[in-house]
Amino acid sequence: YGEFNQKIDYVFKVVLIGDSAVGKSQLLARFSRNEFSIDSKATIGVEFQTRTITIDQKTIKAQIWDTAGQERYRAVTSAYYRGAVGAMLVYDITKRQSFDHVARWLEELRGHADRNIVIMLIGNKSDLGSLRAVPMEDAKEFAQRENLFFMETSALEATNVESAFLTVLTEIYQITS
Ligand code: GDP
Ligand code: MG
Repeated sequence: YGEFNQKIDYVFKVVLIGDSAVGKSQLLARFSRNEFSIDSKATIGVEFQTRTITIDQKTIKAQIWDTAGQERYRAVTSAYYRGAVGAMLVYDITKRQSFDHVARWLEELRGHADRNIVIMLIGNKSDLGSLRAVPMEDAKEFAQRENLFFMETSALEATNVESAFLTVLTEIYQITS
């Protein structure tokens, strides 16, 4: 509700990428509906969710795209990246392999997306600190070297999720306007 008859000043497409099971769909559920489900099935069908926010008295519709389980087969298509002005590149802080694959995702993203795309590296599941397999410093260094924003989040506990998306959307707004 509340969106009815509302004038939209901008629509920003943001894509979620990263290995399977890192929490992309739950980050999206948290940001778009403030929901989380423990037993989220592999994403089926749903292409994107939207949430309308206000920056600088402008109404911005964030259209956040989620891979429909395509990440398993490295079959994310160029249509997925087309028109994206932002990307959330997600790994799981408890799964070293998901961080090792970040460089590959970045390469694929840069090969397909607009060169001005705003990218946030996200280390998700920060609530599982006792199982940590990726030191925050490693990710920070990588992000700095590659010119990415970086945050650790927990979709489960709703930590930094809002902040991560709003940082990216605000940066896009500043570049666009
Ligand atoms: P996707 O394949 O990247 O879309 O990952 P999902 O969003 O489907 O999440 C995969 C699994 O990780 C599910 O069992 C989620 O409940 C769980 N999960 C997602 N985010 C978090 C989080 O922040 N903390 C914890 N502890 N589990 C999470
Ligand atoms: Mg998913």
